[in-house]
Amino acid sequence: NECAPKPHVALLASPGMGHITPLYELAVRLVTQHNFQVTFLVITAGSTVAQDSYLTAYPIPDLHIVDLPPPDMSNELLKNMKTVARLCYLVEQSIRPLRSILNGLKRPKVKALIIDMFCTGVFEACKDLSIPVYSFFTASAALLTFALYLPTLDCKGDGEYVDLPEPVKVPGCNPIQTQDLMYLVPKSMINEYQQWFMHVSRLPMVTGIFVNSWEDLESVSLNAVKHEPFFANIPTPRVYPIGPLTKQAEPVLSKYEKETIAWLDKQPKDSVLFVALGSGGTLTNEQLTELAWGLELSQQRFVLVVRKPSDCAISGYFSAGRDADDPKAYLPDGFVERTKGVGLVVSSWAPQVGVLSHPSTGAFLSHCGWNSTVESVKYGVPIIAWPLYAEQGINAALLSNEVGVAMRMPMVGEGGETVVVQRKKIESVVKAVMEGEEGKKLRRRAKELQASGRETLSRGGSSYETLARVAESWNIET
Ligand code: UDP
Repeated sequence: NECAPKPHVALLASPGMGHITPLYELAVRLVTQHNFQVTFLVITAGSTVAQDSYLTAYPIPDLHIVDLPPPDMSNELLKNMKTVARLCYLVEQSIRPLRSILNGLKRPKVKALIIDMFCTGVFEACKDLSIPVYSFFTASAALLTFALYLPTLDCKGDGEYVDLPEPVKVPGCNPIQTQDLMYLVPKSMINEYQQWFMHVSRLPMVTGIFVNSWEDLESVSLNAVKHEPFFANIPTPRVYPIGPLTKQAEPVLSKYEKETIAWLDKQPKDSVLFVALGSGGTLTNEQLTELAWGLELSQQRFVLVVRKPSDCAISGYFSAGRDADDPKAYLPDGFVERTKGVGLVVSSWAPQVGVLSHPSTGAFLSHCGWNSTVESVKYGVPIIAWPLYAEQGINAALLSNEVGVAMRMPMVGEGGETVVVQRKKIESVVKAVMEGEEGKKLRRRAKELQASGRETLSRGGSSYETLARVAESWNIET
């Protein structure tokens, strides 16, 4: 029926570009490829310059952005909250009016609400309104299997995972070294971990789980979740791999961003190392100095995104996209002058997709956040893995050991502790990836995955059809 209104779904992402981007790109696909109308609910509390400019960059008919009213931010506690605790608090407060907002939407009743990892507080409202809840797990399938296994692991003992004597063996998956868990479960963050644990232990309550991945990238974990009896027994909702979903190259560029792309235009093919640590990653003063020296000694071309150093590796999370002050102040004396022509220093934020999709970009030194990872693979760029926080250690291991697109920066000391990576080490890893045989191998593998990512997303490809089938099922349900 031509006049019937299009079916309607709603999405809700927690704050942070790493969550908003994949959910928004899913919304775009549902509208442009599957003929849905979408309400995209935005948690405005804690929003950043990056978030605001991304969501307003190109309006799409039938994609309606609805801001949730900001909660009271005067809470004294909020000031001292660490990132995950703050994130959970903002979500919890912002979704209080969810029931009346969903009820009041002036379009046909929503067929489903798709949430991300930290939004599991929606279940009661959705149950009352008979709206099925789907999760879009915005991290790797490797983390998804770990998260589904976690309640079982948690029952096995009361020690810290970082102290486990053996690697963690999720059924059907490759073992996870305990040092790769230390970013996820650091001792200093035990309360934050508990909040994360609470959210992921609710995963079995959703109707289905989307994941931003695909068979060729993560065959081990995706097979495990499908075929291992352990997961059937939990029981695990159906898992739908629909990746690689990444943002389109930035449609509107600031003056500085244009300068970055113009600089890349003048460099030879595959010659530039892009150095960026996600939307909020930061290094200590000492580590940033070593990194700068390492880059200079390597004599490779680079684009380096610099943020104010901090002892907390995630300190920029709630200020993503804001211009930092003069980055020169944080770099070794004379660094910018000495590397002029070879390197470009960018303050705080770069048009990452524009850089990764540029032919001059030859490798990406990344913190291995999942979106950065998927973007890099999607554009066929090999990775130097420098995990900083959250599940990035698991991603780094996956990319280097299982997928074969990354070389890890050796950053763990003999006692399993994180060490400051010295300039000589950085120089040699950068050279190996930019001009060594190992680098060529990684690049070849990244190009293979680039082709496979393109294929899976096109009509007839697995990710495309998977999403199409779920969309059809929503369409049929009354
Ligand atoms: N990003 C960007 N410019 C920057 C740094 C990050 O556009 O200078 C984007 C990047 O393209 C990615 C997101 O921010 O889409 C970061 O997400 P990711 O999951 O990699 O890491 P997180 O920030 O969540 O740790």
